[in-house]
Amino acid sequence: KEVKKYFPIKGSFLKRSNKFVHAVENVSLYVDENETLGIVGESGCGKSTLGRMIMNILEPTDGEIIFEGVLLNSLSQKQLRNIRKNFQMIFQDPYASLNPKMRVIDILKEPLIVNNICNNEQAYKVSKELLLKVGLRETDMHKYPHQFSGGQRQRIGIARAIALSPKLIIADEAVSALDVSIQSQIINLLLELKEEYKLSYIFISHDLSVVKHVSDRVAVLYLGNLVEIGDKSIIFNEPLHPYTKALLSATPTLDRKNKKERIILKGEVPSPSDPPSGCPFHTRCPLAMEVCKKDKPKLKEQSGGQLVACHLYT
Ligand code: SF4
Ligand code: MG
Repeated sequence: KEVKKYFPIKGSFLKRSNKFVHAVENVSLYVDENETLGIVGESGCGKSTLGRMIMNILEPTDGEIIFEGVLLNSLSQKQLRNIRKNFQMIFQDPYASLNPKMRVIDILKEPLIVNNICNNEQAYKVSKELLLKVGLRETDMHKYPHQFSGGQRQRIGIARAIALSPKLIIADEAVSALDVSIQSQIINLLLELKEEYKLSYIFISHDLSVVKHVSDRVAVLYLGNLVEIGDKSIIFNEPLHPYTKALLSATPTLDRKNKKERIILKGEVPSPSDPPSGCPFHTRCPLAMEVCKKDKPKLKEQSGGQLVACHLYT
């Protein structure tokens, strides 16, 4: 709720200035039980920063992170540790998140033992089941992370993420580094697990076709701002925000009849350390008006049910 993250800019010549990178600007959104919320936007738009704040790895500059009615910002470390089991993260590079010196079985046992879920013997059994559940073999148990392919390593990352029976998984570019054929296997695994464990996902990706496939609702970020959010079908078929339209027009489509005209945006994404006044998109928007330079548009509900932050739809 109204979550904001500003990073101070370090650097000798800026030492005395109080400049900040405006990574996330007052973003409010929710994800329901057993729902997948996709978060899209170009690199540097604040997607990962937002994900890390929801995970409590990063403290918001302002705003509230609420899980099942509990305000996480106000909890003690101990209370937070208990509740944190409920959300897990899957990263782009599973290799970096797996200890190279540990065998897979020990990687999976670790969270179960650290969180006092079960004893060593039970943890072994549960870990073995997890490994099979994500499509690896019993013989893989005693191997080290480097002995697996990228796709298999992502399966290990997923097994580790579900080990503590979380309610929410944040997948940050979780399939972006994988070959397309492996991508679809991992996505199918995530979708199966969603049904089996009634998981919620926040699926962060710059790849719109992947987001389209997995999401129930989609949020569009631009320069740290939420510019449009709504049901997947509305966002992909009838987007309203000029940025959403431009972003979607850049994705290749196989559907010849519905071929969209590609909207080429002029200029570069402005620097988040010096964001534009008014609408954050006004420096590149093909439909910008005078008012857009001065007033920042607020999110308003539209007839399709989605929320849009744009002066064209007030
Ligand atoms: Fe474009 Fe203005 Fe809408 Fe911003 S508010 S997206 S500049 S029309
Ligand atoms: Mg990122």
